[in-house]
Amino acid sequence: MTLLYGALFVAVMGVSLYATRNAIESYADSAVRQEMTAGSALFARMAKLQFRQLDQSAAVLASDFGFRTAVGTNDAPTIASALDSLKRRFGIDHALFVSIDGSLAGDTDELTGSESDQLYDALDSGRLQGIVGWGTHSHMVAASPVRAPMLTGWVVFSKNMGTAELQQLAQLSTVDLHPKLLPIAALPASLRAAKSGEITTREWKRGSEDMLAQARPVENLVPSSPQMLVLEYSLTDAMGAYSPILTALLAFGLVGTILALWGAYAMSRNVARPIIALEMAARKVSSGEHVEVKIETRDEIGRLARSFNRMVNAVETRERQIAHMAFHDDLTGLANRTLLREQIAVFLQRAGKDGFALFCLDLDNFKAVNDTLGHPMGDALLCEVASRLAQACPTGFVARLGGDEFAIVVEDGAASADQIGRAIVNALTQPFHVNGHRIVSGTSVGIALAPQDGADATTLLKNADLALYRAKQDGKGSHRFFEAAMDAEAQARRAMETDLHDALRNGELELHFQPLFGLSQNRVTAFEALLRWNHPVRGTVSPLQFIPLAEETGLIIPIGEWVIHEACRVASSWPEHIRVAVNVSPVQFRSSTLNAIVLQGLARSGLEPQRLELEITESLFIDNVEATLASLHSLRSLGVRVALDDFGTGYSSLSYLRSFPFDKLKIDRSFIVDLLAHEGATAIIRAITTLADALGMETTAEGVENSDQLDILRAEGCGQIQGYLFSRPIPAKDVDALLQKLDRDRLAA
Ligand code: C2E
Ligand code: MG
Ligand code: MG
Repeated sequence: MTLLYGALFVAVMGVSLYATRNAIESYADSAVRQEMTAGSALFARMAKLQFRQLDQSAAVLASDFGFRTAVGTNDAPTIASALDSLKRRFGIDHALFVSIDGSLAGDTDELTGSESDQLYDALDSGRLQGIVGWGTHSHMVAASPVRAPMLTGWVVFSKNMGTAELQQLAQLSTVDLHPKLLPIAALPASLRAAKSGEITTREWKRGSEDMLAQARPVENLVPSSPQMLVLEYSLTDAMGAYSPILTALLAFGLVGTILALWGAYAMSRNVARPIIALEMAARKVSSGEHVEVKIETRDEIGRLARSFNRMVNAVETRERQIAHMAFHDDLTGLANRTLLREQIAVFLQRAGKDGFALFCLDLDNFKAVNDTLGHPMGDALLCEVASRLAQACPTGFVARLGGDEFAIVVEDGAASADQIGRAIVNALTQPFHVNGHRIVSGTSVGIALAPQDGADATTLLKNADLALYRAKQDGKGSHRFFEAAMDAEAQARRAMETDLHDALRNGELELHFQPLFGLSQNRVTAFEALLRWNHPVRGTVSPLQFIPLAEETGLIIPIGEWVIHEACRVASSWPEHIRVAVNVSPVQFRSSTLNAIVLQGLARSGLEPQRLELEITESLFIDNVEATLASLHSLRSLGVRVALDDFGTGYSSLSYLRSFPFDKLKIDRSFIVDLLAHEGATAIIRAITTLADALGMETTAEGVENSDQLDILRAEGCGQIQGYLFSRPIPAKDVDALLQKLDRDRLAA
């Protein structure tokens, strides 16, 4: 801005100075020209007067009788004295008499021969006055003819027209004109082209001086060597008169320029500098720096700066909020999965020889809390869990991965990871008191150690998860370290999971049936449907292997549906008194579709409801007793029977037996195996059969393999026997043959 305004002012100033100077110059030039013309005109008038004076003087002598007589008689002395006396009388410089024959008398010394000849020629041709150059001077000459009465000669008077005389003349003019009379040949170079008859004015340079010169024709006595009046004038001198004005203007311009520069600088300081500062600040903000612009004024720019600062603060606050939202869990304020991954990367980079441990965990029963007490309670529980975890691992980095999953990174080194794992489990095993509710939860913990268990966040998290999976399988409330084998298992599991997806569609699933023998009826009373997977490559896969996987993945729902339909279909062709028992997984049991599926199975096959027995396990009572009981009653309302499978192995509370009248208790095989080895086993069987009798429930002993077991069971009042003693599970097509064989055996017995 300073430069622009300064340059602008200098330009305007320069142009006006230049214009002024030009105006002055052209004014001076035209003034001088006028003066010159006036001067030379004056000279012409003066010359005319002088010529007349000279002429009159000459005429006085030429008409003098005595002189004429002297001329007539050629009286030289008289002529000479007459000329001399008149010359003195009139103050004339030269007085001559030129006789008609060309001889000269008087001041002839001044003239050379040729000059005398020229004079005579002029007079002879009738030119009686004019300027002529004699010697180094110019002269003003006027001649008067002498007649006696015939022309006998001429009286010639002349006056010097040298520098001094011309100067006198010039003094009449106001300007210093330096007049000169010069033959054309001697004119200054600039005027050399001047024509003898015209006034010519030219400008020229003498050294550093600008000159103006004018040539003016004069009346010449000798036209062959004409003289011109030359006036010269120094324009530089003329301009000199104006130089104070120009100097003043220049000084004014200089001061003005300084003032303009100063003003522009001050203005740019006040306007441009804050704007530049704002612009720089904006650039910094866009590159993520924090800036605060200094507010120096109270004007618009000051207000702009204030608004800018407010905007920067608002942007930063929002940025912080967004960053916080992007990296933190809204509910607990803990780091989220994204931040945890970043943090793990940082830990990995700076991990020393000790490394660090990553703990992954999730809550037991969290779904139940959400379902029964509502989501607000679930949320409150999660917050409580978050604060307990922070207390349990004060040096740890705690994150919530989503749902009821948490992770903690602790840099304390592998040695203490075991203690920390235990501390975490302990912290969450203590009952929670949330909004007046007492909630008992718990957790399992999977631990991955860095760097040996993974060189990046993804691997570490996956491995800690595998360890968690294993910890949960081992029983809740434990912690497990990752082992390389887990990874292999997980891969195998994933492969099997993929295959299981296709098993149903590809018809690889099949039901086998194992008879239940009624001791009092002395015949087969039912068959249990047991699932078989005939994998084209793996061969026959045990349900103990693939059922848990199907439960985890949810595949158990469609598989279980198929089992119910298939079992009903097969059983509908059996004799009326034979039931079919179907195993129902807890996952299936909790799904809302079980009732509908059972109804469909019965309807489609035409099987009587009381011929279908559903086997459930005690594990259902661990979680939500109320809901389990409600579902059981609604199943029972369909008219089907319900048996409690693997009785005695799971959740050992008998209270639910009071709450729900099972149709049958199936005594777990482990008790039957023990029968021959432990005395106490018999007592347990007796206790169970007595309890079942009292509650009006039937009993079935599972896994009976020999007749000794059978004898004890019969003695202790067990109702039915299932086991290899009678038959292994067999394909559906073999059921008829088996029934006939067993009937034959019975008849034989
Ligand atoms: P479970 O319901 O307790 O079934 C009895 C298991 O004991 C069967 O094993 C059967 O073959 C086996 N068993 C029967 N008698 C004897 C014996 O004398 N000695 C020995 N050692 N074992 C005997 P399986 O077929 O391998 O089934 C294992 C478990 O898989 C079943 O235990 C049941 O919990 C589950 N399961 C089988 N089929 C299904 C199904 O369709 N759905 C569901 N949800 N689970 C099923
Ligand atoms: Mg069973
Ligand atoms: Mg069983």
